[in-house]
Amino acid sequence: MSRIVVIGAGAGGLAVAARAAVKGHQVLILEQGSRVGGKLHTLRQDGFAFDTGPSLFTLPAVYRDLFLKTGAALEDSVDLQEVEPGFFYRFADGTELLMPGVGVGRASTSIGDALGGQAAAEWLGVMRRAGQMWQLTRAPILQSPLDGWRSAARLTRKVSDVRTIGPFTSLHRLGRQSFSDPRLVTLLDRYATYTGSDPRRAPAALATIPFIEQTFGIWHIGGGIGTLATVLADRARERGVEIRTHSPVASIVLRDDSIAGVQLVDGEQVEADLVISDADAQHVYSTLLPKSSLTTRVNRTLSKQDRSFSGFVMLLALRGRTSGLAHHNVWFGPDPGAEFDQLFSRNPAANLKPTIYACVPDDPLMRPDADHESWFVLVNSPRHSATGEAGTINWRTPGLADDYGAHVLAELAARGTDVRDRILWQQIQTPADLEHDTAAPGGSIYGMASRGAMSTFRRPSNSSPVPGLFLVGGSAHPGGGLPLVGMGAEMVAEAIGRAKH
Ligand SMILES: Cc1cc2nc3c(=O)[nH]c(=O)nc-3n(C[C@H](O)[C@H](O)[C@H](O)COP(=O)(O)OP(=O)(O)OC[C@H]3O[C@@H](n4cnc5c(N)ncnc54)[C@H](O)[C@@H]3O)c2cc1C
Repeated sequence: MSRIVVIGAGAGGLAVAARAAVKGHQVLILEQGSRVGGKLHTLRQDGFAFDTGPSLFTLPAVYRDLFLKTGAALEDSVDLQEVEPGFFYRFADGTELLMPGVGVGRASTSIGDALGGQAAAEWLGVMRRAGQMWQLTRAPILQSPLDGWRSAARLTRKVSDVRTIGPFTSLHRLGRQSFSDPRLVTLLDRYATYTGSDPRRAPAALATIPFIEQTFGIWHIGGGIGTLATVLADRARERGVEIRTHSPVASIVLRDDSIAGVQLVDGEQVEADLVISDADAQHVYSTLLPKSSLTTRVNRTLSKQDRSFSGFVMLLALRGRTSGLAHHNVWFGPDPGAEFDQLFSRNPAANLKPTIYACVPDDPLMRPDADHESWFVLVNSPRHSATGEAGTINWRTPGLADDYGAHVLAELAARGTDVRDRILWQQIQTPADLEHDTAAPGGSIYGMASRGAMSTFRRPSNSSPVPGLFLVGGSAHPGGGLPLVGMGAEMVAEAIGRAKH
């Protein structure tokens, strides 16, 4: 049995803690914030409820496995609901596309209805290839520990496999090569934003994301996806995990270059045999760990990578109901290329006509009554920095957040959906708020952006160069988003069993 300290009670920290506890370890989670969940959260106010982080849940099998292996089925704890229809898309030219939640064939039929038969056939072709990509990468990469170049080598044994994955093809290029309709390119490009990345640099393998959605369905949790954080914490506690909130860790303490424990901001020292960090990897390597030759190489690799972008969030408590919406709604902007340029540059946000996403769950537990709606609006946005770092915006600039919020609502109105006179109250959460709440530098949602063929293999690995220190969560291997974070937690729980201390 080991004494394990987990830094952070995000989805990754809670999941690994529950798994480690059933293996007989003594686990303490130290969370800087006032609540569990990190980015995974449902905010409730005046009968309205909003998922302020994940609003789309895929591959629930990952969490089904966790819940079964730690005591009882996920469905005993949450009301898992398949979302149908899945997405309402409105392109800049006014074309509307209502997509089903599940079924590649059904999705292609909807695409055919909106964009024509050729688009439908081309989408099917790309999803067929994406299915092969998923088969090739799932077990050897996403569900296996990262092992430097050896991990990449596992994928390159057969020329036909390399051709399928297209390691040197970007997602955008895959779309341009495969689709005759630019609107379909825009649709595929959007999936790069699920990793906070630019589709012109992100690998073609991200086409697996729509494949997964359309094959395994998209899911909601009754009352809000953030409920998952609460039930994960309950499960961890039931297995004996202690969770302390308001407990920011200032540093990871080493003795003879191995883990000795952690020191909290208030000076308290907590001894540990193993430390698992769910905090952003950059925060871990640049702030929490002492400078040492062990971490030089990782710090150098991290400093050369782009961080993923952030999000500008508006929570709208609305009077009345809006017709024609789906659970997930996307209003594309007219110039996706300019939009992605802006996300990594310092152009003022307000000049843009951005793509706007709104999650509007038809969930009685998330609104006061049937005559109201809770809207979670998300616009991809440059990261926050108060010091003018390249590719960032100072989101604390007085008036900026309110002005940009008004701009987003005006843009939505210009695209046919004006909700301004129905707003009872609204709350804005900027990348600066996300940084404050989760200690993710700049409010990056997904750690490092996916950039180029090797980005998967350059992600911080779950086993660190410091003996006894492990990394879990969206900024480490295999990546961000609830499914990958859950897979990473499983790998770390296995790895600690093999750790020597
Ligand atoms: C706006 C938004 C929309 C998203 N949409 C989706 C979606 O639709 N679907 C999806 O699957 N994913 C989505 N995601 C991504 C998903 O939320 C994350 O990938 C996942 O929740 C990350 O979990 P985590 O455990 O890695 O980290 P986090 O949730 O960031 O948790 C890390 C925790 O560590 C704590 N911490 C950090 N430093 C310290 C310290 N020094 N001491 C103590 N505690 C510390 C933080 O306070 C935090 O609670 C979204 C995220 C955001 C922000």
